[in-house]
Amino acid sequence: MKQEAVRNLNRDIAICTRCRLSLTRTNAVPGEGPVPSALFFIGEAPGRNEDLTGRPFVGRAGHVLETLLATIGLQRSSVFITSIVKCRPPENRIPRKDEIAACGGYLQTQIHLTAPTLLVPMGRLASELVFSHFGLPNIPIGRIHGQLVYAGKSCRDLAIFPVYHPAAVTHNPPLKGTIFEDFQALGRLIEEKGLKLRDEQE
Ligand code: SF4
Repeated sequence: MKQEAVRNLNRDIAICTRCRLSLTRTNAVPGEGPVPSALFFIGEAPGRNEDLTGRPFVGRAGHVLETLLATIGLQRSSVFITSIVKCRPPENRIPRKDEIAACGGYLQTQIHLTAPTLLVPMGRLASELVFSHFGLPNIPIGRIHGQLVYAGKSCRDLAIFPVYHPAAVTHNPPLKGTIFEDFQALGRLIEEKGLKLRDEQE
């Protein structure tokens, strides 16, 4: 049932024209991963490689993400990965407010269908969006990364664990140690919470 809902959602995203990004994309990039999934990663927007393939995190940032997941014993196919907007902004510019608003319903439906225990926004924009969605005060990613924040009374079982965006490591190598430590903390959290992560290919 949920799989069918996901397929329908992906179909809607593939032909979506709700914002101007539909005019310049090659492929929409809905995201991928098991449904349900205990871990839900949210990036900013598709880049060039993602636009060409229709798959999330397949470029350099994707390689960094896969390497980080591997350090805590996870494959990318065990977690759900998507982004705030599903179509590539031209020249990889930051998504605009109206584009984020237009695309927000898709992300909400994905979270609803996936029913994660941990949301992992990657980078400033994703972190701001998730915090604002749950009515939480915005705390800069430089202060909140690697910390567990509960989503609120209405979502007792859902927690947020922001990390830097994997692409930040490629632009700012000193962040490599920080993001590595944050992923090790994430690995410990997964163990503490006894999260069962299912491989999509099972
Ligand atoms: S970014 Fe989102 S809202 Fe805009 S066209 Fe793509 S799928 Fe539709």
